[in-house]
Amino acid sequence: MTSTRPETRAVHITTPTLPNSRPISVPLYQASNFAFDDPDALATALDSPDTGFVYSRYANPTTRALENTVAALENGVAAVSTASGMGAINSALLALLRTGDHVIAQRCIYGGAFASLNDLAARFGIEVTYIPGDNPAEIEKALRPNTRLLYLETIANPVTRVINLPTFLAAGKAANLTTLVDNTFATPMLCQPLTHGADIVLHSATKYLGGHSDITGGILAFATEEMHHKVWHYSMELGATPDPFAAWLTIRGIQTLPIRMRQHCANATLLATRLAEHPAVAAVHWPGLASHPDHQTAKELLTDFGGMIAFELSDGREAGHTFTKGVRLVQLAASLGGVETTVLHPASTSHRQLNEEELAAAGIGAGMVRLSVGIEHPEDLWTDIAQALPA
Ligand SMILES: *Cc1c(COP(=O)(O)O)cnc(C)c1O
Repeated sequence: MTSTRPETRAVHITTPTLPNSRPISVPLYQASNFAFDDPDALATALDSPDTGFVYSRYANPTTRALENTVAALENGVAAVSTASGMGAINSALLALLRTGDHVIAQRCIYGGAFASLNDLAARFGIEVTYIPGDNPAEIEKALRPNTRLLYLETIANPVTRVINLPTFLAAGKAANLTTLVDNTFATPMLCQPLTHGADIVLHSATKYLGGHSDITGGILAFATEEMHHKVWHYSMELGATPDPFAAWLTIRGIQTLPIRMRQHCANATLLATRLAEHPAVAAVHWPGLASHPDHQTAKELLTDFGGMIAFELSDGREAGHTFTKGVRLVQLAASLGGVETTVLHPASTSHRQLNEEELAAAGIGAGMVRLSVGIEHPEDLWTDIAQALPA
């Protein structure tokens, strides 16, 4: 199957074989417990993720179909599904780190990952150094004898930074670090970090993989079996495992991921261009625009520029707040990556506790609006956005 292209791999999911046929879609194995005839086979299945199905916190056939699909899309050897993106992040962190270890992380990673790393630092003595992600020499500078992990994001919030993955991963490898990349915003359709040297790639499947705002899920894909076994073990012990039904819906989502991503990206192209020309908009952050500081990196690293746009309204906090109240088709919501377009004004919602200075330090302008571009007709989206923008 790996000789096929991603669009084909996403659709042709390997399903169980029956005596004379096989189902075309993956059946939902809504089962927690599996019966054996042979006690030795049961014992073996408890020890490893690849030796059979015994109990669904360890492995489940529906969940396994999802894991195999994402592993194939990410060019990994295997994957582990979790109940949320945060379940994936914490499974990896707890599997890879111990007291006294040091982590180098990109400064603008997902807020939940930032909170988890700081929590580990405060409670378990794991130290973290945050780097801007502009130059791979930052890694050498931050390096300590106890540095274990490099944590990056392909496309990072809020200003859609695109890190130069190949050079940062090479610097991490040269220092013997385990490298982990959150590929949620790019998806394997735009970038496959394992092919650039990452050890682990992770997703919040809640976003583009699921794509329909109806599940929470996470997934980790691995470059080696050794890494897979290590993280599977902790994920299973933590109980981060998804319910098979959520895994089943995620598979259904992934089959249309390639065509959804094409439309997300095409719509974002139109909206980013129109926003950049609008007099009420001071700046547009989208890696596809030549004005974006990472445009060149994005052109080399990504096959397209993604569906996430941030833009700054000239009139600041009040204008951002008013805009998100003024949209009608576009919906005000905290999450992203669904088929429907959503919008968020961080300064008055997710980051309302921060003052102007703290917002600036987090890279968030007071008038910044984050747009998760859906797959609707782009002209309908523009009509709605334009009527909500200040005259
Ligand atoms: C949402 C998100 C997460 C966390 O995923 P959940 O499914 O909400 O737990 C992690 N990373 C990125 C980039 C995200 O957008």
